[in-house]
This record gives sequence, C-alpha cells and structure tokens, in this order.
Amino acid sequence: MAKSIKSVPFTEFTDPQSQLVTSENHNAFDLYCAQGCALILRANLGKWVERPKNKLKIPDGKESDSDNSSDDDSSNQGFWALNDVMAFENIDVTNTIVTGIKYLCCPGCDLAPLGYHDTNTKNEFLIAVDRVSYFRE
Ligand SMILES: [Zn+2]
Repeated sequence: MAKSIKSVPFTEFTDPQSQLVTSENHNAFDLYCAQGCALILRANLGKWVERPKNKLKIPDGKESDSDNSSDDDSSNQGFWALNDVMAFENIDVTNTIVTGIKYLCCPGCDLAPLGYHDTNTKNEFLIAVDRVSYFRE
C-alpha cells in the first residue's frame, strides 16, 4: 500500500534541519505517517520547535521497560508544532490521560503516537519529526 506514496523516512535525511525546514522555519514537505497510510499535514503548516521527548512516552507502556537505559528522558527533540488541530489533514487525538497529555495518532494504523498535545501548556500540537515520513515531488 505504501508504494503509491513516494515518501522518504526521516532517517534518510542527513541534515534534517536544513533539508526539511524552510527559511520561515516551517516544514518544507507534506508529512505522512511513517507507514505511508495517511497524509498527516500539508507543507508549510508546521513549525520546527524543540520540545521534551519524554512526553511522547506512554506511561505503563511495555516499551519503556526495555529501553529505559538507552533514552535520556530529559532531552529535547525536534517537533512540528501547530496551534490548531483543525490544520491537520488526518489525525486522531486520544482522550486526555491523567498526566494531561493527549496523543496524536495516525488514523490509518494507530501504532505508536506520532506526537502529543500537552493540555497543561499553551495550545500547541506537536508531531515528532522522526515519526513521520516526507513527500518530495
Ligand atoms: Zn499510519
């Protein structure tokens, strides 16, 4: 199914902050789910920001047991930020959990969350830059 979409995984970009980001700090390409099943966000609608990556981790998730030591929970990573959830082409937003985090998921595969929205802070919806793929024409 993914064959019809020529999207490029994040790992293929050697210098993502210059290859993926426009001079206005927006996403240069359309964002697709890494599985290729859905268009998540059109080009130029997200803004590159650095945010804590530990909020992406689901509490009680099994994966946190196995790679506890390899991840530095306090570090930041790149995200595409939006102020309006309606700007997404396709996104599923989970219900708020106790920590105040809502997860943003692909409606096509619902695998690991693509990003999050922290309801304790300002209206900011975040998509992890390394959890989506990029469509280059
Ligand atoms: Zn998907």
